[in-house]
Amino acid sequence: MSFEGRYQKLCPNGHYEEQDVYMDTDQCIECGEKWVKTNLVDDTNVPGEGYDESMIPKPKPLTVKNSFTVFLADYRAKNAR
Ligand SMILES: [Zn+2]
Repeated sequence: MSFEGRYQKLCPNGHYEEQDVYMDTDQCIECGEKWVKTNLVDDTNVPGEGYDESMIPKPKPLTVKNSFTVFLADYRAKNAR
């Protein structure tokens, strides 16, 4: 069985990408800068092994559930009267 994995990559401008190990780039897709941080995630045996959550830029993108909560609060505020 061959190696399966992906890279987490972070550029100086805060762009974050996850790329397949066999199809990764040397530069940021968004702005063309060289990656400042690269982390290898090994999915061969345990999916997500070595995953570095601290590399994900803050604030984290809203999940569907979170964005729905925000939408609901906004909707209620607009229709309060
Ligand atoms: Zn970038």
